[in-house]
Amino acid sequence: MNAADFTITQLKQAYQSGDLTPADALKSIAEAIDSKDGDIGGYLSYDLDLALADAEEVDLSLPLGGVPIAIKDLINAEGQPCGCASKMLTGKYKAPYDATVVRKLRRAGAIPFGRTNMDEFAMGSSNENSGIKICRNPYDPERIPGGSSGGSAAVVASNTAVAALGTDTGGSIRQPASHCGVVGLKPTYGRVSRYGLVAFASSLDQAGPMTKTVEDAALLLGAISGSCERDSTCLDLEVPDYTAALDKGVAGLKVGLPKEYFAEGLDPEVKALVEAGIKQLTDQGAEVVEVSLPNTEHAVATYYVIATAEASANLARFDGVRYGHRSNSADDLLSVYEKSRDEGLGSEVKRRIILGTYVLSSGYYDAYYLRAQKVRTLIRDDFNHAFKEVDVIASPVSPTPAFKIAEKLSDPLSMYLADIYTISANLAGICGVSVPCGAITEDGKDLPVGLQLLGKPLGEETILQAASTISDRA
Ligand code: GLN
Repeated sequence: MNAADFTITQLKQAYQSGDLTPADALKSIAEAIDSKDGDIGGYLSYDLDLALADAEEVDLSLPLGGVPIAIKDLINAEGQPCGCASKMLTGKYKAPYDATVVRKLRRAGAIPFGRTNMDEFAMGSSNENSGIKICRNPYDPERIPGGSSGGSAAVVASNTAVAALGTDTGGSIRQPASHCGVVGLKPTYGRVSRYGLVAFASSLDQAGPMTKTVEDAALLLGAISGSCERDSTCLDLEVPDYTAALDKGVAGLKVGLPKEYFAEGLDPEVKALVEAGIKQLTDQGAEVVEVSLPNTEHAVATYYVIATAEASANLARFDGVRYGHRSNSADDLLSVYEKSRDEGLGSEVKRRIILGTYVLSSGYYDAYYLRAQKVRTLIRDDFNHAFKEVDVIASPVSPTPAFKIAEKLSDPLSMYLADIYTISANLAGICGVSVPCGAITEDGKDLPVGLQLLGKPLGEETILQAASTISDRA
């Protein structure tokens, strides 16, 4: 068995029994990447020598002692490339520092190993917007792995990584986790520091674990959570032992099913699998009630105003002067900006910058941005209201299983609309997890489907507790 086949827990056991050293594990993961990832495209790069040097100093008694973690290409890890799968930065920027999540991982003994593919600057739901190369779904190479953390999901699913970090601004951890049959958790906004994440939409972004089991997600979440003096939105609160929540069962837990999420547009086979997953909860004593999130119909529009507005500001720093690509054919200051951005950024990123600039511009600000902020409050109120009655909310993650590569490429709107079940959690700042609940067979291939469990702010223990009941890989 290759070390990349292991879960975090299994790898730690192999270290404890002396069957394996972190250096052995890293070498065999590199072999797995070399032999398997060429067909998948989950990694953009890895640096074995750097990781082996890290492994020399590692303390195996730590919670993640010697565990290699693959890192999404927008999270800074000192000495490693951080290209955001963009031509703007790839090959032109090496991280001079560790993001807080990477620093905390190292402190827990983990080794950041490998940079995972993604939609450029995390904008997308399919990985087709990667500016570097395509990433395929390990269950069916004709299909997308999801996005934007598609590489992180694909490397965990294809056993070329033990576990990975992703980021989620509107579903980018949960949706690819669902499409690739892995566990993906978006923490409550503020639970995990954003310092050192290349910002997409600062009021929505969170980093989180993508793992083979719920137990691994709990371990990884515990390691990356907690205060950070460099991110004022990061909560200075004690981090619980998330693994302690896993054996508690769900007897008496109240599960809300939002009626707006089980309506038109949901693939009947996805619905059946999600309902079967929910039945596992009720079989073990959970109680199900219907809840309503009446502003769901406005969520996609609200998100695509707020996220693009924030992106247009955040991406202004990529101007050909301070970071990344600078055009060779520019002959004055304005054309440095224009040509560098034109050459360095892909079409979806440009579309978002243009949309975001438009909704912030004078004359349109009130009609779009300000209104979207008000609707955001209504969406948050919907959840507050629902969580007065229930402990968790269960729903699909995505209306369909993974779609075919290029199927939606010419229709960005249909891609945006498929984010309907995930983006409200980011707008409300609550936590959510995708846990595998079965697979649909299409063209002779099994396509995984995830069940989403949403929790109250800082309700990570409760959603993990429920997820561990459902997951058959835990
Ligand atoms: N699919 C959404 C988008 O394209 C979410 C992306 C994300 O969470 N980073 O914006």
